[in-house]
Amino acid sequence: MAVGGDAPVSVQSMTTTKTSDVEATLQQIYALAAAGADIVRVTCNDAEAAEALAEIVPRSPVPIVADIHFQYRLALAAIEAGVHAVRVNPGNIRNPEHIRAVAHAARRAGIPIRVGVNAGSLDKDIYARFGGVTPEALVASALSEVSLLEEVGFKDIKISVKASSVPLMIAAYRLLAQRCDYPLHLGVTEAGPPPEGLVKSIAGIGTLLAEGIGDTIRLSLSADPTEEARAGRTLLESLGLRERTGVDLVACPSCGRAEIDVIELARMAREELKDRELPLQVAVMGCVVNGPGEAREADIGLAAGRSGAHLFIKGKVVRVLKVDQGSGDPYRRMVDELLAEAERLVKEGVEARLDAADESAARIAAAEAESLRVAERDPNRAVERALRVRAITTKGSQEPVL
Ligand code: SF4
Repeated sequence: MAVGGDAPVSVQSMTTTKTSDVEATLQQIYALAAAGADIVRVTCNDAEAAEALAEIVPRSPVPIVADIHFQYRLALAAIEAGVHAVRVNPGNIRNPEHIRAVAHAARRAGIPIRVGVNAGSLDKDIYARFGGVTPEALVASALSEVSLLEEVGFKDIKISVKASSVPLMIAAYRLLAQRCDYPLHLGVTEAGPPPEGLVKSIAGIGTLLAEGIGDTIRLSLSADPTEEARAGRTLLESLGLRERTGVDLVACPSCGRAEIDVIELARMAREELKDRELPLQVAVMGCVVNGPGEAREADIGLAAGRSGAHLFIKGKVVRVLKVDQGSGDPYRRMVDELLAEAERLVKEGVEARLDAADESAARIAAAEAESLRVAERDPNRAVERALRVRAITTKGSQEPVL
């Protein structure tokens, strides 16, 4: 997959297996690709890992980047093994001759090099020159490494200047984007476990992407790597930078009006839908009074009523599911119905599914929503009760009411 220029912004992730364990590494690469990773980075930290790459690369469904830290010979070995790119850390490979040797090998192989600067392993001289880890120091480290590559005519370069501080990484990438035209790989390093790690990564990477900065991204989470691949993909889709291939689940936050446990229903729906290739926006709403209207833009959704759920397509109720909340697993049934209708919607299209709507659905739904509205205006049902009282008291005006 191309990175930079007109290519779509890509999602990267990294394996956590021992690279020397070929089967385990390939299994994780396949899982990452299925979760949305376009490119997978694999550590090449010893001779066994480099040899394993020769087996992994031809069997991988996505391009493989070898991550090199200290030994430039491992970069040469990984290139020989057929990787699609190498990542070198200028703070760790400090001998310019070694960097040039890697550039020559990469040029012969026709693959790019990512210069991956990391605030935590900034070159000591640069640290001293700038008086610490600053945006200018990160950019200077990257550009000095880039100049070594350029000296030997190597220009197929990508750059990252990652830091665990979100303001620092944002400032560094902004500066880097002003100083060069090379494709940029964005990331907040050591972001930590979700949700905090996710929030930090989205804040940093999302801010830059929204400004038009960045060509490829990695969310570094202390979690199952498929989570970071899925989150990266979702970030790009939510910014409109990649087409949606899977479900975009929207759910109301719930409130006092909710007729069900929205959080549980949304969790179940997410679990069921997350790996389906259904390019739909699916809504889970807690009440029939506001749900279908608020989620009018969704392709399909469920709104919970007192006696079940209203299944709607583009805001129009097409079926009322009678679900007894006290029996069996009512939420499972709601999710199953939602999934089945979503699949039909993708296969048959909106018009066909609206034509197939239950004739009585809209009427029943409107009546139920209205009765809930009335109940809300009169939560104690005092008006209804007063009418019944009046019916009794006025019945045969001559008879005494006991
Ligand atoms: S859809 Fe209904 S339950 Fe959900 S937030 Fe809106 S009003 Fe509340």
